[in-house]
Amino acid sequence: LTDQPITDVPASAALLARASAVIPGGVNSPVRAFRAVGGTPRFMAAGSGPWLTDADGNRYVDLICSWGPMILGHAHPDVLAAVNEAAARGFSFGTPSENEVALAEEIVARVEPVDQVRLVNSGTEATMSAIRLARGFTGRDVIVKFAGCYHGHVDALLASAGSGVATFALPDSAGVPRSSAGETIVLPYNDLAAVEAAFAERGHEIAAVITEAAPGNMGVVPPAPGFTEGLRRVTAAHGALLISDEVMTGFRCSRSGFYGLEGPYAGGAPDLFTFGKVMGGGFPTAAFGGRADVMAMLAPEGPVYQAGTLSGNPVASAAGLATLRGCTDEVYTRLDVVAHTIADAASAELTAASVPHTVQWAGSMFSVFFRDRPVTDYDGARDQDTDAFRRFFHSMLAQGVHLPPSAFESWFVSASHDDAAVEHVLAALPAAARAAASR
Ligand code: PMP
Repeated sequence: LTDQPITDVPASAALLARASAVIPGGVNSPVRAFRAVGGTPRFMAAGSGPWLTDADGNRYVDLICSWGPMILGHAHPDVLAAVNEAAARGFSFGTPSENEVALAEEIVARVEPVDQVRLVNSGTEATMSAIRLARGFTGRDVIVKFAGCYHGHVDALLASAGSGVATFALPDSAGVPRSSAGETIVLPYNDLAAVEAAFAERGHEIAAVITEAAPGNMGVVPPAPGFTEGLRRVTAAHGALLISDEVMTGFRCSRSGFYGLEGPYAGGAPDLFTFGKVMGGGFPTAAFGGRADVMAMLAPEGPVYQAGTLSGNPVASAAGLATLRGCTDEVYTRLDVVAHTIADAASAELTAASVPHTVQWAGSMFSVFFRDRPVTDYDGARDQDTDAFRRFFHSMLAQGVHLPPSAFESWFVSASHDDAAVEHVLAALPAAARAAASR
């Protein structure tokens, strides 16, 4: 398939030039710009199953899967049929309609602690709304988050740790008011003692702790045994809510997300969950939900306002529902097989090339850290050889395998990754491992 390494991409380069004139950086989400790895981002023209085709006609095995949503592969026939059927009936009504009800029912049926959900359009909206709801419910303002966890570009969550355990955070981005980030406490992930200390000092001010159910945005860093349960215990003791962000892990790590792997917890379930990605099947839909008494605070039932012109969109809901219904036990089994086959081979080739590395897991989500010790928090994730990753990435790309263009991301597989696609990845690994080793 790729006898010639893919090095020249004139059509993508031309599109990037056109895009850069009218879109900042030429992209609508920064990680797509290849700033961490250099080179020309590939403008995709089509996707089918595990394969992407770029504007120059080059084909790649996709190990991004749209950062999670494409769990069944691109343009899955059942999802395509559901989308076509829904679209033929109209695109958006601005009234309630049945598809959104069916999608909500499917989510509630899968994630036991979730009594009700509200549908939104992105993971960012889901976490933003969950935080507002937690603040409204508790009458408190402070949010605790963990360094290295990403919850979308919500002002209060784009915050970096200041020094000291319970100090309020500084904005991570220009344009975030100090006052927004200043209501956020950022703590090291997997450090329950830090959480206990923060609550000892400011427990009466804290509305919620938000955490990725298993972080995938600093690379994959699973919770240490007892960490999430500890968060549940500490938050409950202080009357704060626990928000589990399953935007990335939801319906991917198991049919009921990472909660399905790790829960139920001795001290009870998280109060609120956020979902996105898989539940939209590649369309812009997401959700937050949880305990009925908390959800009852939302407008029009309660005083916490939240809304959306396109929320519960019938076409997006149809795509999400068809995707979730397609996520059978066989799908999860295949995800595991594909992920382990690729990860084991990557590790073996990196070992053969003497490249220090560690593979970490959350269900079938995994990432390869270019360092020789396990990673338990953001400081650890940052302490890796990102240059080795960059060389590895470009060798894989030239051989027709599209990895996430950053060392701090999970690799995503789909159930459509058949033996041919997996073989293609395995064939690319030896040269990529040697490239990583070379300086
Ligand atoms: N939470 C988590 C855990 C995520 O991984 C992401 C996106 N990567 C978000 C929230 C934000 O979702 P979106 O990009 O749809 O706004």
